[in-house]
Amino acid sequence: MRKRRIAILGSTGSIGRQTLDVVRQHPDRFEVDLLTANNSWELLASQAREFNANNVVICNEDRYRDLDDALKDSDTKVFCGKDSICELAASSQVDIVVAAMVGFSGLLPTISAIKAGKIIALANKETLVAAGSLVMGLSRKYNAPILPVDSEHSAIFQCLLASQGNAIEKIHLTASGGPFRDWPKEEIAVATKEQALRHPKWDMGAKITIDSATMMNKGFEVIEAKWLFDISPEKISVVVHPESIIHSMIEFRDGAVLAQMGHPDMREPIQFALSFPERLPLDNRKPDFAQIGSLTFQKPDTGRFPALDIAYRAIARGGNIPCAMNAANEAAVAAYLHDRIGFYDISDIVEQCIEEEDFTADPDLDCILDTNERSYRRACELIDRKGRRD
Ligand code: MG
Repeated sequence: MRKRRIAILGSTGSIGRQTLDVVRQHPDRFEVDLLTANNSWELLASQAREFNANNVVICNEDRYRDLDDALKDSDTKVFCGKDSICELAASSQVDIVVAAMVGFSGLLPTISAIKAGKIIALANKETLVAAGSLVMGLSRKYNAPILPVDSEHSAIFQCLLASQGNAIEKIHLTASGGPFRDWPKEEIAVATKEQALRHPKWDMGAKITIDSATMMNKGFEVIEAKWLFDISPEKISVVVHPESIIHSMIEFRDGAVLAQMGHPDMREPIQFALSFPERLPLDNRKPDFAQIGSLTFQKPDTGRFPALDIAYRAIARGGNIPCAMNAANEAAVAAYLHDRIGFYDISDIVEQCIEEEDFTADPDLDCILDTNERSYRRACELIDRKGRRD
């Protein structure tokens, strides 16, 4: 069997490292063509050596010299800059592109890979939040399937394999509830980033862990599910499930519900996206239901976590509004991680940016890029103003 040749965009991040762990367990199935990173040139160099990557790209051009030096006696070719990522992700050497960059920066490389007809293993949900209509249209046009890596969407995808073509009546999207699930609002309001970064169930990068604490991540996932599975957001219901054993469920019109379960470990959905439709062995923890004992469910508290409702309202308006939401959120989360604003400032800023945004019903790529920049800039102004006030 020919090995699947993989490009990992964002290989030094949490998803990237876990993807390489999957590759490490199946050297007979997968080989690495391309690895990319923003700044972490040392880790990128050691990954390139271990997996004998053909190409690496460091996005930050200031790190190019260091990376090139570190790999000068290897066969790996070294590039830098965003354009190289777009170009190499579309190369004929690549079968599957793992889109694991953080935030809006993942959009253009993903579009480039789609236009080259690659299989996309999508971890970068912001791509669909910001430009879902555009990206899904291109995926159809260029025959580039998008396989979900996000655990909830992988679960829905896996459940759908048993649907025999029957339409989904409802999606039950599970949420761990994040680190502040049981905290009173007054305490969440003054939570530090260290507290927000302590996710109880999932080992993830900083941006998504904050998104998980605000529950904006779940709002993004509602939008991601809408686009991936072509289902209206009113049919997507979020349920808090603290054990994180059920990764999501689909319901049919006869009331039958299918769930996909497992211990929370991102390598499982990553591996399924890489090996689909086959299942391969994985050295993860297998569920022992007697030991798990009980599975519990709660309604999300939108009073303490307003971001979830903001996301529902943004996708109900549609057009370029979710793109504005994503940009404002990206700016606000970065500011929170730099201790510049408080926890609830994140959702306040996002809400204000959405309200001020000029609506475009059917945004093309230029409109998406403009909206992203405008909303990001507006969020930065609001952040500066809050900074001065304190
Ligand atoms: Mg998820």
